[in-house]
Amino acid sequence: MKINIAIDGPSAAGKSTIADELSKILGYTHLDTGAMYRAVALKAIREGIALDDEEKIVAMIESMDLEMPADGSVILEKEDVSKAIRTNEISMGASDVSKLQGCRAALVKMQQKICKDGGYILDGRDIGTVVLKDAPVKIYMIASAEARAKRRVLQNQENGLEADYETILEDIRKRDYQDMHREHSPLTKAEDAIEIDTSDMSIEEVVEAVMKIVREKTGD
Ligand code: C5P
Repeated sequence: MKINIAIDGPSAAGKSTIADELSKILGYTHLDTGAMYRAVALKAIREGIALDDEEKIVAMIESMDLEMPADGSVILEKEDVSKAIRTNEISMGASDVSKLQGCRAALVKMQQKICKDGGYILDGRDIGTVVLKDAPVKIYMIASAEARAKRRVLQNQENGLEADYETILEDIRKRDYQDMHREHSPLTKAEDAIEIDTSDMSIEEVVEAVMKIVREKTGD
């Protein structure tokens, strides 16, 4: 039976990379929920909507055409915005719109609808605590801010994006604070989540650690 897997943790802890690897091994689909908040921020900025204007942002989401295909791309109004949502400006913008309860409620609903039949790995900040409260496997992935900044620098360099270490480290610290201290669904570890500190682990080691948990839970 295909279950859903929840992966939460701060930005750049390796959630997306691990979710991608797991989805290949398990034949599951990875849903990057952060990319959905990023798409909302991108559209709002393009349309000149203030990122704290909850009413306008919720109305915008209601008419928004957002597709999250299984190949991991992000399609906004039929445009592939997979790269456009990865800038520092959109990272902070996503963190800003994610504070709005109305925005969260709309995206949580979309996420729950997408994965209702199982076979999904969702990564985000509120998956184990809100979106998939009953998920049999919940992982809380952490890593030091420095380790995360180093990884993001390499990732950005590969994607031809701005890659200044100090700027990225500051952005990570700022977003950690904002994500952990917001009023609605702040980033916290679900009581039944298993914590993995990936600071000194390779991708293979983290994948193996999570697969062990998945096997235990599914009995495979
Ligand atoms: O995961 P990623 O860094 O792409 O997410 C961008 C931002 O979206 C996060 O900093 C966080 O504020 C927000 N987010 C959220 N809930 C999620 C996923 C992301 O609030 N489930």
